Amino acid sequence: MIIDVVELTKKLISFPSITPQDAGAINFLKEILEKYNFNCHCLDFSNGSVTVKNLYARFSNKSPNLCFAGHTDVVPPGDIKQWISDPFKPEIRNGILYGRGAVDMKTTICAFIVAVLELLNEKYEIDGSISLIITGDEEGDFSDYGTKSVLKWMRQNQQEIDYCIVGEPTSKDALGDTIKIGSRGSANFNLKCYGTQGHVAYSQFADNPVSRMMLMLQRIKDSVPDRGSEYFDPSNCEITTVDVGNDTTNIIPGLITARFNVRYNDHYTPDILFALINNICSEVTKKYELSMDKGREVFVVTPNQYTDIIVDSIKKITGINAKFSTSGGTSDAAFIKDMCPVVEFGLLNKTAHKIDENVAVDDIYKITRIYKEFIKNFFELKKL
Ligand SMILES: [Zn+2]
Repeated sequence: MIIDVVELTKKLISFPSITPQDAGAINFLKEILEKYNFNCHCLDFSNGSVTVKNLYARFSNKSPNLCFAGHTDVVPPGDIKQWISDPFKPEIRNGILYGRGAVDMKTTICAFIVAVLELLNEKYEIDGSISLIITGDEEGDFSDYGTKSVLKWMRQNQQEIDYCIVGEPTSKDALGDTIKIGSRGSANFNLKCYGTQGHVAYSQFADNPVSRMMLMLQRIKDSVPDRGSEYFDPSNCEITTVDVGNDTTNIIPGLITARFNVRYNDHYTPDILFALINNICSEVTKKYELSMDKGREVFVVTPNQYTDIIVDSIKKITGINAKFSTSGGTSDAAFIKDMCPVVEFGLLNKTAHKIDENVAVDDIYKITRIYKEFIKNFFELKKL
């Protein structure tokens, strides 16, 4: 029996799996994959209050192992009244499928699964394994319990993957025009600067930390950017908040805090970035505290024969020559890159996270064919 990829997508979209809710989405995929002899492991990881559901499914035990990675969680729909149709009751209008997760990224999960099932149905001999890493938390604050934890489990259980494709929406204007070979890293910083509280009229007895904070932030903002590199835009610092919390007009505050985010390219590692910023702060004052939340790190895959196979597959199905990009947000590819080469390729990202998120039905069938071609090319390449 062959599953229609559009029907499968509609079913998966109908689970309201808003991060970190799973709403049955992972189990739905597990049941399908088990029917087709995938060995499935439901991996639930928890921080005590929130549990993230994940799935690792593998067909065959042979090597090499080609992996698809994706997430079933979606961002909240926003004001449902603004949607033309219910975000969790997928609807096709004029050849376009509407629903939350249509491009980010339930459709590509279904496309990859159907691509594999069609190959099996056509008696295509898979000379290796095919696996899927599906996480229930990519969009939220608990991504530590998603792909990152699954990879840890895989290492502990000798589950190795040789190449991974992540189905995030990478296409800009037409399906297949862009694939992502890397992304900038993202690090969040907290900075506190201390002074001595006092009366504005008796400033000689106080020590105002506000101007020191301003000076530090300006120097950090000026120092972080580089010239960019072969595949990357320059690094950038954005100050997201500065707080004194002073609602009087006559008190010099004793404390000021700030937060900023740095999107950094391959000129930096998190440690080098921290050292640079710490050094800037210490030149301004000794009365500060700086901390960093590493988040997802920078990665880039130098184009090689593996990136060629996805480019060739896209060209064959769409006629388009895909371009390499590292722009846009970070994804779980930043974790997977520590295990094997990884590339991101998926649908048009124009409506991702938006009201009336949608995908052209034609693109759903096309991307299924691209993934199918890609799987065949991968195993052909490995045979050589
Ligand atoms: Zn996504």
